[in-house]
Amino acid sequence: MTQARRISAVLTIGVSLFGLMSTLGASGASAVTAPTPVPTVAKGLRAPVAQPAALDAAATYQPQVSCSPVALPGTKKLRDLALRTYGVGRDGGTTRACSIGGLSEHKEGRSWDYMLNVKNPTEKKTAGQFIDFLTAGGGLQARRLGVMYVIYNKKIWSSYRTGWRDYRGAQDHTDHVHVSLSWAGARGLTSFWTGRVGAVDFGPCAAFTGQPAAVRSSARRTPCPTTAARVKSTSLPTTYVGASGTLVRTAQKAVGTPVTGRFDTRTWTALKKYQSANDVPKTGVLDAATWASLVPARVTYDAAKGMTAAGAAAYGRQHYGATRLAPASAGKAVLLLQVALGMPVRQRTGYYGARTKAAVAAVQSARGLRRTGTADRSLWTVLTPR
Ligand SMILES: [Zn+2]
Repeated sequence: MTQARRISAVLTIGVSLFGLMSTLGASGASAVTAPTPVPTVAKGLRAPVAQPAALDAAATYQPQVSCSPVALPGTKKLRDLALRTYGVGRDGGTTRACSIGGLSEHKEGRSWDYMLNVKNPTEKKTAGQFIDFLTAGGGLQARRLGVMYVIYNKKIWSSYRTGWRDYRGAQDHTDHVHVSLSWAGARGLTSFWTGRVGAVDFGPCAAFTGQPAAVRSSARRTPCPTTAARVKSTSLPTTYVGASGTLVRTAQKAVGTPVTGRFDTRTWTALKKYQSANDVPKTGVLDAATWASLVPARVTYDAAKGMTAAGAAAYGRQHYGATRLAPASAGKAVLLLQVALGMPVRQRTGYYGARTKAAVAAVQSARGLRRTGTADRSLWTVLTPR
């Protein structure tokens, strides 16, 4: 192929690709150039292990769903390796208080801010090298690291769109590069760190619509089940780690942790323990389900209000007899089951945790049913008085 013909062929491929992208809704992306000049000598990060020939799937957009003050291992490793490799700029932080601003993966330990100011030529050059390393070749290394998006100098690159776009957020990101990672990337389970193509980690799931998701310490390989409508509301406001004051004291007293008035990591750990022990989604947040459990007097809405155990069993059998309820199920059916089982008020949360499973298994054993720990019509039937 002659030089001219080769260029022409490349152009044709480029045009047809762009045509495809336009139909996928990524139009306009090609007009925006990178936020810093692409370095003549690229300096990238060296993977700690040999890289496989295959690439991890490009990260899809996984917005913040939970709240955690802990930076995840992949986030920390990327931070440490970049600082060590370039020796320029400094760490601008990985985590952020959940009470401040809108959605941010910082709030669940999946983002890192690399302080590199565009006004400082050395720092700007380093930003160019770091960004080019991540995004070159259509984001090859971004895929290996599970990078979801990068923001710098009023521009954003993401793994789920094509090219650079103008970024109009609250911050212009002229003093730092922001990097957000997928769950797999943040957990350090992508090929850059393991040498093996990583499977998708779907991340934590919210049990109730509009509420925080439970914090998870391991990857999840299946998408979240659909969320349930809230079964209890409270007059107490959602309160996150980092807060302080009277409400925090109230929670600390109820949880049984030292009453300091500061929602610190010690209180956060104690709260999650309480949540696990009482069938409240383990969010680490003083959310609606948690407040309803801790301070029942402040409940403003209860989907099983006024029902007796017998009434809840009869209603549940009629309406939910055909529905299998199992650990992680959530909603009104679970709340009715908890009432029918005569569980303590603080454990009547509408969330099927270890306590509900144990209570179900105990009834199954006592009444000669197969001990499955999951609720079906036969369980509702033995709970319903004749
Ligand atoms: Zn950031």
